[in-house]
Amino acid sequence: MAELKADVLVLGAGMVGVSAALHLLKRGRDVILVDRNDEAGEETSYGNGGIIECASVFPYMFPRDLGEILRYATNRAPQVSYHLLELPSYLPWLVRYFLASEPKRAHRAAMGVLPLIRRSLIEHEALIGEAGVPDLLRKTGWIKLFRSDATLADAQGAFERAKQYGVEGEVLDTSAIAQREPGLTGDFAGAIHFSGPGFVPDPGGLAKAYASLFKREGGRFVVADARSLEQVAGGWRVTGAGDTVVAREAVVALGPWSDLVFAPLGYAIPLGIKRGYHLHLRPRGNAVLQHPVLDSDLGYLLAPMNRGIRMTTGVEFARRDAPATPVQVERALPRARALFPLGEAIEAKPWKGARPCLPDMLPVIGKAPRHAGLWFDFGHQHHGLTLGPVTGRLLAEMMTGAEPFSDPAPFAVERFG
Ligand SMILES: Cc1cc2nc3c(=O)[nH]c(=O)nc-3n(C[C@H](O)[C@H](O)[C@H](O)COP(=O)(O)OP(=O)(O)OC[C@H]3O[C@@H](n4cnc5c(N)ncnc54)[C@H](O)[C@@H]3O)c2cc1C
Repeated sequence: MAELKADVLVLGAGMVGVSAALHLLKRGRDVILVDRNDEAGEETSYGNGGIIECASVFPYMFPRDLGEILRYATNRAPQVSYHLLELPSYLPWLVRYFLASEPKRAHRAAMGVLPLIRRSLIEHEALIGEAGVPDLLRKTGWIKLFRSDATLADAQGAFERAKQYGVEGEVLDTSAIAQREPGLTGDFAGAIHFSGPGFVPDPGGLAKAYASLFKREGGRFVVADARSLEQVAGGWRVTGAGDTVVAREAVVALGPWSDLVFAPLGYAIPLGIKRGYHLHLRPRGNAVLQHPVLDSDLGYLLAPMNRGIRMTTGVEFARRDAPATPVQVERALPRARALFPLGEAIEAKPWKGARPCLPDMLPVIGKAPRHAGLWFDFGHQHHGLTLGPVTGRLLAEMMTGAEPFSDPAPFAVERFG
């Protein structure tokens, strides 16, 4: 068994870990990226909706409106589903989420992450250029459809507020919707076309392209179980089937599995998850979807991926590893078929993933307070594709003693006591 030495080992080769590894490499660190899979971008960073969401200046907080909470509590709303019997296991987390969603706190959180959201597409464009994969970015923005006047009016209010923070877009009436997406059929009150965000038609492919760039520039990739991480004299060690990796510093970027490493080290960080599903479907005939389209009131997204039309679902509260219960896919499918000409499903069963979430919907980025040389970079919630490169840059600046381009204080783990 060989012992490989590096300056930094990054645990987790999703969009977040790969981006951090690349930015550390760019700043002169010798970096080894570690994953249990042979390749990068095989998990959550594969299965998402593909939107580089620089229009999302207000994170997805717990609703404060009683009517909306009661609607979700019925467990019939398309946007949210939950495993009732497991509720006691995640109720404490939901309470923290509710408290963190108090309007003033939510606004503070939104302002904390705003500089990162604003830079998100710029950072992706730089890496996409270096990786030489321009086809993996489409600058189409995305369309949010509304079925009722009330939800459209609410969304227009939020859009007006978002404009103050530079969000661009256009409100569409039914004829404008038909012009922009001729394949859609339905009774729409209207839509908003957010024109700024990017769309990635193969998010897993993008993580792999960044990992290839990392290797081309001298980074190394090792297959190992991050749970083998141990503190040794002068740093951290991970043991794989073939190699042992030793480095002065280690970064935990394991997305929804980050607790497997931080919990045994004694950190009680409230990392929760919001599960989600996708299924690819073939378009019928020569129907083409130009943009990702969120059927907002009916709770699903259709995204024109290279593999087919990817239908993604809203949020499911359940244990991370509990068996899949894709009721939201079953409910959304007939609605999606009524919206757009969809043929047969490409996979036999839906993909299941988990958005890694802290109660305040901000990631944890920074130094682990009780272990020398240990760093955290996880909890990117609904926006890990969006925020991967920009948080990778922020972390690398912190780790190399450079001036961070944005204040990292909102992301410090110490906020949880
Ligand atoms: C349905 C859905 C739709 C979404 N849509 C969007 C969107 O449109 N835009 C957006 O920005 N975000 C979106 N997201 C969120 C985004 O996908 C996540 O925030 C992001 O992928 C998290 O990236 P990550 O690198 O932290 O985690 P992951 O991609 O899950 O990477 C974690 C890595 O850790 C590795 N790992 C785990 N355990 C071990 C171990 N024991 N040893 C070694 N390695 C291990 C895994 O193999 C994996 O490679 C969506 C998420 C879902 C579920």
